[in-house]
Amino acid sequence: MAAPKPWTIVELLRWAADYFRDKGVSEPRASAEVLLANALGLSRLDLYLRHDQPLTPEELARFKTLVLRRRQGEPVAYITGHREFWSLDFLVSPAVLIPRPETEILVQAVLEVLKTENRKPKTENRGLDVGTGSGAVVIALARELPGMQWVAVDVSRAALDVARENARRHRVAQQIHFFQADLFAGLKPGFGFGAIVANLPYVPRGEWEQLPREIRSFEPPGALLGGEDGLDFIRLLARQAPHYLRPRGWVALEVGAGQAPAVMELLEETGAWHCLETIPDYQGIQRVVRAQRLDAP
Ligand code: GLN
Repeated sequence: MAAPKPWTIVELLRWAADYFRDKGVSEPRASAEVLLANALGLSRLDLYLRHDQPLTPEELARFKTLVLRRRQGEPVAYITGHREFWSLDFLVSPAVLIPRPETEILVQAVLEVLKTENRKPKTENRGLDVGTGSGAVVIALARELPGMQWVAVDVSRAALDVARENARRHRVAQQIHFFQADLFAGLKPGFGFGAIVANLPYVPRGEWEQLPREIRSFEPPGALLGGEDGLDFIRLLARQAPHYLRPRGWVALEVGAGQAPAVMELLEETGAWHCLETIPDYQGIQRVVRAQRLDAP
């Protein structure tokens, strides 16, 4: 009797996508493609170029293990250990929040105001990233602004290990000084940063249960939860940031859906800012709040 015909790439993709769809896994087709490419050590494009290629039993076994993890809701980025952000490949682990596409708006918002300043060779410009996580934001910025130095802090040592490795892989380790700290603890006021950027935890306690299980069961709650109204960390940052910025330095904060007006108010209360602005993401959600420190606070 003839041996059963081995599965080909195209057949397996169809099978896995249907299986994920059946089981209510989000992004079924994309999940199938990324996981099969990972199991085979190929790119997603290669899967199409080699769609008729049969899988060896070892490859099939490898893929099945990944499919089962995804079936349990584990995010694809944790299964593969990678996520693309700002067209760069970032390492991720369960110690860090998976970089989100909308966080690219935060990077853009900072670049918009710093690019011109950074071209003047004399301005000694340093930036601060508070709650760096995987390092995605500060690494994207360091690559775009080669003349600029950054300090990046996070409370999680495990997150900093991931961020340092990402900085090394993207060859900006010399531009970023990482250290473990809670917000501004460990930094002297008057340091005179030219920019403070932060994607802090901002999910309100009451919204936790409504987050997709994929997020709730796998991503670090410490990187997501921001207390009763979600603004615990942003509130602290808004109050302290003026003391760490030089005059005309910038602050840019990522915020959750509907939080922008409250965050604008928090900044306005201090009387230290002008040019307050909110910037929408691709879905039209006001995603970033940006402001410039006044000359004399
Ligand atoms: N945008 C994230 C989410 O998907 C929240 C990130 C954050 O709290 N900084 O829930």
